[in-house]
Amino acid sequence: MARYIFITGGVVSSLGKGLMAASLAALLQARGYKVRIRKFDPYLNVDPGTMSPYQHGEVYVTDDGAETDLDLGHYERFTGVSAHQSDNVTSGRIYQQIITRERRGDYLGATVQVIPHVTDAIKQFALADQGDHDFILCEIGGTVGDIESLPFMEAIRQMRNGLEPLQTLSIHVTLVPYIAAAGELKTKPTQHSVRELASLGIKPDMLLCRAERPIPESDRRKIAQFCNVRAEAVIPALDAPSIYSVPLQYHGEGLDREVLRGFGITDAPEPDLSRWYDVVDRYSNPEGEVTIGVVGKYVGLPDAYKSLNEALVHGGMAHRVKVNIRWIDAEVFEQDDGDIAAQLEPLHAILVPGGFGERGSEGKIAAVRFARQRKVPFFGICLGMQMACIEGAREAGFAAASSTEFGATGEPVVGIITEWMSEAGLQKRAEDGDLGGTMRLGAYDAALTGNSHVSRIYHGARTISERHRHRYEVNSAYIEPLEKQGLVFSGMSPDGLLPEIVERPDHPWFVGVQFHPELKSKPFDPHPLFSGFVGAALEQARLV
Ligand code: GLN
Repeated sequence: MARYIFITGGVVSSLGKGLMAASLAALLQARGYKVRIRKFDPYLNVDPGTMSPYQHGEVYVTDDGAETDLDLGHYERFTGVSAHQSDNVTSGRIYQQIITRERRGDYLGATVQVIPHVTDAIKQFALADQGDHDFILCEIGGTVGDIESLPFMEAIRQMRNGLEPLQTLSIHVTLVPYIAAAGELKTKPTQHSVRELASLGIKPDMLLCRAERPIPESDRRKIAQFCNVRAEAVIPALDAPSIYSVPLQYHGEGLDREVLRGFGITDAPEPDLSRWYDVVDRYSNPEGEVTIGVVGKYVGLPDAYKSLNEALVHGGMAHRVKVNIRWIDAEVFEQDDGDIAAQLEPLHAILVPGGFGERGSEGKIAAVRFARQRKVPFFGICLGMQMACIEGAREAGFAAASSTEFGATGEPVVGIITEWMSEAGLQKRAEDGDLGGTMRLGAYDAALTGNSHVSRIYHGARTISERHRHRYEVNSAYIEPLEKQGLVFSGMSPDGLLPEIVERPDHPWFVGVQFHPELKSKPFDPHPLFSGFVGAALEQARLV
């Protein structure tokens, strides 16, 4: 029987519910329990796939090809458990499902309503695929009181009522702000938020109180008394030096102990936290540092490249070095006064990440050229690999080399694909089809050339599986001229048709990949491409 932990947020957004859920799951896992985390997003988009990264941060892609909320990235990084499509649902997806059923006539005769139809669909989603999990954590996006989240709250209320007495637990994450003028922490917003939640029929069992300063025992008791929870179940959640310190910090405050107590579990094994002590030690005690430039488009919002940022940190942990990331707007290199050398010379490595659209593409190509000519370690991811191939093609004499993503071109070195093979069989797309959910998405195998740089990076593997999210591909008609120019296609789709990896053997570290390796990196298991890349940056730092 799976136990359910419902996590809601109050007072303000951005309290870090996702990190809290991921950390709690990691702590339960450290005690030997099998966990799974799910995210409920109240917005009306069917998935975040068509939202701008500026709206919603990165779109996290799962092995089974779902475009999901970036919190699922935290879940995977903290637990190592691969997320699925069935771990993220939005109001949009629920309504789409219900309206499709309604049109089919499945509800013939009935009036279709939020209660019971929408709430039943939410419950079905929460209760599906329980497998042999001990705990299923359900995080509800948004803040209590939002109109959009009401059906989700009602579904939780019903589940709390309908499941076994000790089968569910409600954790409410709130803010305890510090008011400088008064010199005090204020508990009132938490009291109001709990009252709001209670008015929806959900009484929290535990409160996780985010605060900038330690919460005095007297305030903890006050919160407990007003909010009707035990004082030990009021867990202070102070800002942490790094996200990877959060599990140990919350453990120190008694989070997992109180959760188990809330379920009446008295015989839980002690947690083995050695993995987390090692991660924190590697992060907190670096023995050197490197500076890596990321030349991209959404550089104003760190969340837009969340997994990339974390994967670079993991690469640093592998070598016990601190990775300083310099976010560089590619468009700067397209301006007359955009002095490329001045910006890129101080860097120990250059990364061009994934992206969409033409804006900044010439700047990215210029960054690739700089890295190639100056022999600075270069890593191109998805769009970054495509830019590396266009740069190579221009060098090989195809002056008009471009991508059809940017408009019609006489030299489509990167072009749209309308047919490809997946595990489910032949996939087809129309060139002018829907944009939502229609890219090459999810895990695909790539066959690596023996004795290539990447096969060594992947410890001799000949087949790898990585996650994709793109509509365009490097055009295999250009492989021959590009190979003459020095690029080697060392990874291809198993049918040999789609380029997956390029490298330059005459360069210290130059790799472009069509997939997103950052999505699979973990702090306790850094992705080999990222540890390799940071290792190359470290070599470069020794040279300069
Ligand atoms: N825009 C490119 C494509 O669709 C690259 C996508 C990406 O970098 N994720 O192919």
